[in-house]
Amino acid sequence: MSARILDGKSLAAELRAEIAADAAAFRAAHGRAPGLGVILVGDDPASRSYVTSKQKACAAAGIQSREIALPATASQAEILAAVRQLNEDEATDGVLVQLPLPDSTMEADVLAAVDPAKDVDGFHALNIGRLVQGKPALAPCTPCGVLELLRRVGIPLAGANVVVIGRSQIVGRPLSILLSQKGTDATVTLCHTRTRDLPQHTRAADIVIVAAGRPNTLTANMVKPGAVVVDVGVNRVPDASRASGYRLVGDVDFAAVAARASAITPVPGGVGPLTVAMLLRNTLTAARARLTLPS
Ligand code: NAP
Repeated sequence: MSARILDGKSLAAELRAEIAADAAAFRAAHGRAPGLGVILVGDDPASRSYVTSKQKACAAAGIQSREIALPATASQAEILAAVRQLNEDEATDGVLVQLPLPDSTMEADVLAAVDPAKDVDGFHALNIGRLVQGKPALAPCTPCGVLELLRRVGIPLAGANVVVIGRSQIVGRPLSILLSQKGTDATVTLCHTRTRDLPQHTRAADIVIVAAGRPNTLTANMVKPGAVVVDVGVNRVPDASRASGYRLVGDVDFAAVAARASAITPVPGGVGPLTVAMLLRNTLTAARARLTLPS
């Protein structure tokens, strides 16, 4: 079997065109574009490049973006002041704090300070709580991107046995909640490093979603023939043949698993582009919802 490659890049382009049309309609109706505010602390090159690509995607979709850049030495009080500034800014509908912060111990307090109505990353406890309750919420972008991808390529989820590898608060855990919600109706097994006999679980799965952050977490002998495989992982591995000195790989042994699966996402060009598209969609959702909230 040779798997169908699930092209996240072109799906994301499709989605971004739809969002651009919706953003234009919003601008026509309300006299301003939806707005995203980004806080970037420090000068980590990977974080800088993620922020730049989000800003470019905003510009292409007709979403206004503004940035508050703070030095790596910024205190928690200074970062919280930046969050407050964006929370209070009328033209800012979404507030994103680029993670990781140079001092990761500040992250919980900083994320808790984001106005839940502007929490386009979906990390605030209120939004996570609403998600668990099955109420409308701003949900984390990567899990939403995975769901959007599976829906758009027509992979049936209702009743499917789905194994998610990884239980992080930004990917695996919220993804397990979204997949098992009424209306989506997958049967979900959430695996992690303490899971006993991981291959036994993955071999029984119709869909395996890997978000472990380790290359080759999923190998061919762990996959049922014909299963669908979604690779969320993004890992840099040394590669002397590249000018950068590295290349990006996912968490899946791609070539071997592709020979056994019925469909698989590549890395890069799979889930990543959908994540950015979901950020744009959440910004638009937040912009619309703010206009209907009592002030
Ligand atoms: P994380 O916070 O490090 O969590 C990794 C999770 O995977 C943990 O729950 C860990 O289990 C589990 N795990 C690790 N190795 C495992 C193994 N061998 N077997 C079973 N479980 C294992 O990572 P994250 O933030 O969720 O990110 C995961 C990956 O997705 C990373 O490569 C990241 O770069 C990528 N990512 C991609 C996007 C995108 O847009 N494409 C967005 C976000 C993240 P324990 O809890 O037991 O430690």
